[in-house]
Amino acid sequence: MEKSTQKVSMVSLGCPKNLVDAEVMLGCLSKDGYEITTDEREADIIIVNTCSFIKEAKQESIDTILDLADRKHDARCRLLIVAGCLPQRYQEELARELPEVDIFIGTGDYPRIAEIVAEKEGTDEQLRYIGDPNFIFDEELIRLNSSPSYTAYLKIAEGCSNCCSYCVIPSLRGSLRSRPLDRVLDEAKRLVAGGVKELNLIAQDITAYGRDLPDGASLERLVTELAALEGLQWIRLLYAYPDGITDGLIRLIRDEPKVCNYLDIPIQHISDPVLKRMNRRSGEQQIRDLVVRLRAEIPDIALRTSLIVGFPGETDEDFKKLAQFVEEAQFDRLGVFCYSKEEGTPAAEMADQVSERIKRERYKKLMRAQARVSFRRNRQLVDTVERVIVEGYSEETELLLKGRSSRQAPDIDGQVYITAGNANIGDIVSLRITDSSDYDLIGEIVE
Ligand code: SF4
Repeated sequence: MEKSTQKVSMVSLGCPKNLVDAEVMLGCLSKDGYEITTDEREADIIIVNTCSFIKEAKQESIDTILDLADRKHDARCRLLIVAGCLPQRYQEELARELPEVDIFIGTGDYPRIAEIVAEKEGTDEQLRYIGDPNFIFDEELIRLNSSPSYTAYLKIAEGCSNCCSYCVIPSLRGSLRSRPLDRVLDEAKRLVAGGVKELNLIAQDITAYGRDLPDGASLERLVTELAALEGLQWIRLLYAYPDGITDGLIRLIRDEPKVCNYLDIPIQHISDPVLKRMNRRSGEQQIRDLVVRLRAEIPDIALRTSLIVGFPGETDEDFKKLAQFVEEAQFDRLGVFCYSKEEGTPAAEMADQVSERIKRERYKKLMRAQARVSFRRNRQLVDTVERVIVEGYSEETELLLKGRSSRQAPDIDGQVYITAGNANIGDIVSLRITDSSDYDLIGEIVE
């Protein structure tokens, strides 16, 4: 079949890091002449880019594959491709259980997707390309930014060398590989030239950026150089391991207006015995000191973190300490995960695994506590002025615009509803906050 007449649709699951891989695959296929569609019913080729970080993510990936496999019967689809972390981890089982999948592609092979699809044209066999996860995206590959035109994720490194005892990422993505600084800058320039105003820096741990490079590149240097790009207005730092946050980085967030007063620091827990078993480098006191330092230096910083409940050996005392810390630290945003026992990780072999019932109870307690914290934090913003990027119309009514403040990350944080004033999508405006709820804000444009 002529490539120019073939349409490709992609569903990308999991985190923004996975989304960037999906965008690279779409770029490769589009360069090769395939047409990209967002409607899978009209697609000849459907790709599911999967996640297998924890149990829920794996289930979501399987459900999506099974759901989209139906398009081979009730729509145009003739090739179903499963890419990403799930086949990287479970290729044998998936190949056996999912005969309806035509191609499996792992985390090291996805940039060869066009070549692999061409190879499939000559055979009825199910193909599997699962090599070592040692690939790192570079500028020579074209990436189709699937986010709205004014914002993009910028993946600065791949893999992780941190060895947290519960995490499968290093085995799925390999050890840390930072992209050369000039290549990251080249990509950033291209994105900004295309209209991007906000860059969200991502990696498994952005603070590790440059440690594996010979030229002294570091996150601080990269952010400083990004801030010099004309046209770029917001730089946001996501996934920053606590002990990698230096005084220099804190000063940069404080003093450089383009760096959003926002930081995502996944601390995972606060109790030392649990942190030790997690093989985390930061202990309770370091985490507490960091939160105090950040708030002292940048009083209006929005802090996001993620926590794991029900880690093996987590006692009632450990959990009580964690729940108290959630009340004390007043994180602006918080993600809570129930510990997921992942085969092949040291934590899966640990004694004193916690029951699912207790994990759920602890999860609910933290989420309830955080809803109160978040409500109070949002309440404090009423009558202040926030910089907001306008994102479109609200789902409820086209009379209401919605947006995101510089202290709200795309896809995971709340929104701002705009009740007065006009602006175009992608504009960054000043907004007086007039009301708030648990997670969202309401305001009026003041300029
Ligand atoms: S920092 Fe820890 S949790 Fe995060 S990707 Fe690396 S090993 Fe996994």
